[in-house]
Amino acid sequence: MRFSTNSCFLCGAPAQAPQDTVPVLAPWLLDRYQLSKRQMRLLDQSVVAYEELRIPCCPQCRLQAVEPLEAHMAEVANGGLTAWQQMNEQQLFLWLGKMFYGILLTELLTELDPLIKPQYPLSENGQMLGKLQSFYQVFQALRVPIVFEDFTPASVFILEVDPAEDTIPFEYDDDLSTMMFSIKLDNVVLVACLLDNGIIRQAMRRVYEDVQGKALHPVQVAEFKARVYYAAYLFNVVPDYYVRPVKPGDQQLVYDTLIDDVTREIFNPWENSGYAQSLQEMWKRWRLELPEIMRNPAQPLSFLYDEEGMPRTIVSYPEPT
Ligand SMILES: [Zn+2]
Repeated sequence: MRFSTNSCFLCGAPAQAPQDTVPVLAPWLLDRYQLSKRQMRLLDQSVVAYEELRIPCCPQCRLQAVEPLEAHMAEVANGGLTAWQQMNEQQLFLWLGKMFYGILLTELLTELDPLIKPQYPLSENGQMLGKLQSFYQVFQALRVPIVFEDFTPASVFILEVDPAEDTIPFEYDDDLSTMMFSIKLDNVVLVACLLDNGIIRQAMRRVYEDVQGKALHPVQVAEFKARVYYAAYLFNVVPDYYVRPVKPGDQQLVYDTLIDDVTREIFNPWENSGYAQSLQEMWKRWRLELPEIMRNPAQPLSFLYDEEGMPRTIVSYPEPT
């Protein structure tokens, strides 16, 4: 793992900008949602247009890994919800991982020559760099055949949004230090924690089951996301990965994993006050503030469940009285 403007983001081989680069958000995505000129603000307060967001990539990784993946993803996007649900999970992880890592790498490279030094530079965040190192190992599956033995590196959730009150065709958000990434494409929202070995999905099994087959109101999607983002914030371990010794004739690498759940708890304790902040952040668009969210401190406001814990259906928000 090397952070340099002259090293391929995937394999580390020399890559000469500007020709040896790939876009973080693929051209098909920018075209589909007319995003080329949309801008994002980096942590050093500089501003970059989506179409200028590029990371170093050697020709081999570009031609053999990145471009074939993006061509496939453009087809999946055309197929809509069913195509997303039928997708190979490892490929979905790699695609989301590519965008997540592309944004993170952009931030790290920008920090080498920042406009304004960020208050909390990512490059000084040792815990995040440790996670990134583990992520980089499993992310190699984008360029070499890797089998994950009895585990999946990430938790990926696929949600469906009811189009009735859904006004935003595309959005994405992330939390770089907790390895969270979420993207919305029309009526499909993908939410992923990219380095938890699927543990958050396991922990949220019931909630995820309760939303299956339902077109959710956007305010419910936001709540679901708040739960996953908060869980990722509480997630307290970094998985280790081991490559099995390679024998002659092997066509793929096999990875095993280990999580240290002996010396540390997998999750820090859930606190409703912390969760409420995550809700407030996700519910910004609806201007739901903490006093309302925490009216019942033991049970923060929910649009997914009623007070008896039964799944709710929300048709419109604000709800008719
Ligand atoms: Zn490469």
